[in-house]
Amino acid sequence: MIVDVASLWVAETNAYVLAAEAGGPGVVVDAPPDLAGILEVLDRRRITPVALLVTHGHIDHTGAAGGLVERTGARAYLHPDDAFLALDPEAQLRMLFGGIPPGDFRPPEFLDLADGQVLDLAGLRLEVVHTPGHTPGHCCFHLPDEGILLSGDHLFAGSIGRTDLPGGDFATLMRSMRDKILPLPDDTRVLPGHGPATTIGRERRSNPFLLQLLDRGRSSPG
Ligand SMILES: [Zn+2]
Repeated sequence: MIVDVASLWVAETNAYVLAAEAGGPGVVVDAPPDLAGILEVLDRRRITPVALLVTHGHIDHTGAAGGLVERTGARAYLHPDDAFLALDPEAQLRMLFGGIPPGDFRPPEFLDLADGQVLDLAGLRLEVVHTPGHTPGHCCFHLPDEGILLSGDHLFAGSIGRTDLPGGDFATLMRSMRDKILPLPDDTRVLPGHGPATTIGRERRSNPFLLQLLDRGRSSPG
């Protein structure tokens, strides 16, 4: 299986390209506002994207979604609870930059993701894991056959997503982490939306936020 990544835009957001093999169909996960950067990864692997899965509606993960769909014909997927973010890129850009920088940030039409949904795309089986907290509609994507979790801005190597942006909630994030992410096998490779890859086991042992959760689990059952 091919997993390639480019870290793009001012936010250095990871855009992932997944495919069973080079020269065939594939899936893109997240579309930071640098269409050329995403197309470069697809080109170097000769992969044709059939789908774009966005982990959540923040502009640094969705900015090039419209362009990518228009250019490649891929179908874009988003959890509907993040539509308020993804469909209003200008509000986010104004909050970030105090104005609208040049560029094409138009959102595409999104198909809805739902918790527990299994997607069969480009010969890959991906389970949708709705993990609200960083945003209400944040989703991780789990490939159980490959032992891979695309964790978006939910879980990072050594950290977790911020919860101080509109729709964010710390307690909700921690609940998603405890109920849906911590139960995954230790050897699951975690590919986050920013920064380097890690594993569930490494985070379980060393991520201060996960340690806090595990501690709490021990001292107060239920
Ligand atoms: Zn985010």
